[in-house]
Formats: sequence, structure tokens, C-alpha cells
Amino acid sequence: MAEICLPKKKLDNKVAIITGGASGIGEATARLFANNGVRAVVIADIQDDLGQKVAESIGSNICRYYHCDVSDEEQVKSMVEFTVQKYGRLDIMFSNAGTYSTSQTIMDFDLSKMDLVFSVNVGGMASCVKYAARVMTELKIRGSVVCTASMGGSVGGERFTDYFMSKHAVIGLMKCASKQLGEFGIRVNTVSPFAVATPIMVSSMNKNIEEIEKMFQPLTSLKDVVMKTKHVADAVLFLASDDSAFITGHDLKIDGGFSA
Ligand code: NAD
Repeated sequence: MAEICLPKKKLDNKVAIITGGASGIGEATARLFANNGVRAVVIADIQDDLGQKVAESIGSNICRYYHCDVSDEEQVKSMVEFTVQKYGRLDIMFSNAGTYSTSQTIMDFDLSKMDLVFSVNVGGMASCVKYAARVMTELKIRGSVVCTASMGGSVGGERFTDYFMSKHAVIGLMKCASKQLGEFGIRVNTVSPFAVATPIMVSSMNKNIEEIEKMFQPLTSLKDVVMKTKHVADAVLFLASDDSAFITGHDLKIDGGFSA
């Protein structure tokens, strides 16, 4: 009898962590990873009820929710240890959790507000990269680390100064880590989304989904294409998988041509 050969999926047997996985871009990426053969995906967040629901809807055989406030280094360390103890390895770290600032300009800049944003967007990302890199090198895994930066990581903003600053720092972190981890075969890249109507945008802009999409869509070159979380998840899948085996130190903009 002829053997049935199923096509290999992009993430066959890989184990992944996604921070900020309870919502928006992280949730969409967890679902896409699950559809692409991932052995296990741990979604980490601070929204426990939502995170549990997302994990259950993806399937408890593939997806687990783990409470982790990424601004607390010990919690990041525990999240990575939990994943390795449970699944024996870590191939992909998608460090995506992020928070927005208040709408501050440089003239009314409040350093304590900046500290809060930086503790998540910069400190949190650095801890995720650090503990992923430690475990990947220890287990000799040629893994992939992807961090969520932003279009705000390469341009200035009229407001939200500390948020824009924090996303510039994420790109700096990615560039340093890619230089330092290349010798272990670990790739480090960022995705930089333009504007997608997720809860973070809805609350920071005080507008509904349709209003946000209407506002940003005309700024791109791709007419009649509305940016969705799936567009970002597709880019993360590419960077997480062996399809991007020779790509490291790269900031992949998902912006419909906005920055061109
Ligand atoms: P979202 O609000 O849907 O998701 C963000 C998730 O991060 C939430 O589930 C939230 O609970 C979690 N989170 C926040 N602080 C955390 C912490 N301290 N520890 C753990 N989890 C925490 O928004 P999103 O748009 O999916 O955001 C994901 C990433 O994308 C963020 O880093 C954001 O800055 C970035 N980004 C978003 C856009 C956009 O237009 N939506 C554009 C560029 C970059």
C-alpha cells in the first residue's frame, strides 16, 4: 500500500512563546502558528481570563496560557523555564507584548510615565530576548526571536513621544542581539506594523475600529486594502520559520508602502 506523505508545515515540531498573546497581533499569530504545525505555543499575558479563553479555543493539546507581566524579569524567566520544562525546548520567541503611553509631547514630558512604557516595551522585550537566548544556546537550538517594534520605531511622532522612543529602542535591541547571537545560529528580527485597529489602538486613540481603519487606510499605497492583524501574523510566521533562514538583524515593515 502506498504511504501517504503529508506536506511538511512551516513550524512542524517547533515550540513557541508569544507574549501579549491574549489579544490583537499576538492572538492572531498564535492561531496562525497553530495552523502551521507548531507542536506547542505558550501565550503569555496579563489578561488572564482572555488568555485562557484564547488558549482553549486554539486547543489545549497545542496552546497553553501562562500569566506573565513582562516588565518583571523574574516572571519572564519563569515563563521560559515553564515552557522548557513542559515541552523540552524553545524554538521561537515572539516578544510582542506592548503598552501605549499617554499622548505626551516633549514640552509636557513626564519621566515617570516614560518609565512605565519603557518597563514593558523595552525592559520586557530585553528580558524575553535574554532568557530565550540563554535557553536556546544551552540546548543548542538555532532558534528565531521576533520582537514587535512599530513604524514608530523609525519615524518621529507628533505625540506619544515615549512610545515612539521605546519602539526605536526595540529596533536597537534587535540589532545588538542579532550581532551577538548570530554565532549560535539564533536569528533576531523585528516586525514593524503600521496601524491596525486592535484594543491598544482603540483605547489610545479613543476611536472605534471603523474610524481607525478609515483614518489610516488612505495613508498607505495599497488602495482598498485595510490592514488587519493577519498581515502582521503572516510576517511573523515568515520570520519564525526556516523560510527566512538567512535573515537576521532585519526590521520588516508591514505598512502597505507608507514608509516608501
Ligand atoms: P493589543 O492591545 O491587542 O495587545 C497587546 C497585548 O499585550 C494585550 O493582550 C495586553 O494585555 C498585553 N500586555 C500589555 N502589557 C503587558 C505586560 N506588561 N506583560 C504582558 N502582556 C502585556 O494590541 P496589539 O496591537 O496587538 O499590540 C501588540 C504589539 O504591537 C505591541 O507591542 C504594540 O506596541 C505593537 N504595535 C501595534 C500597532 C497597532 O497599530 N496596533 C502598531 C505598531 C506596533
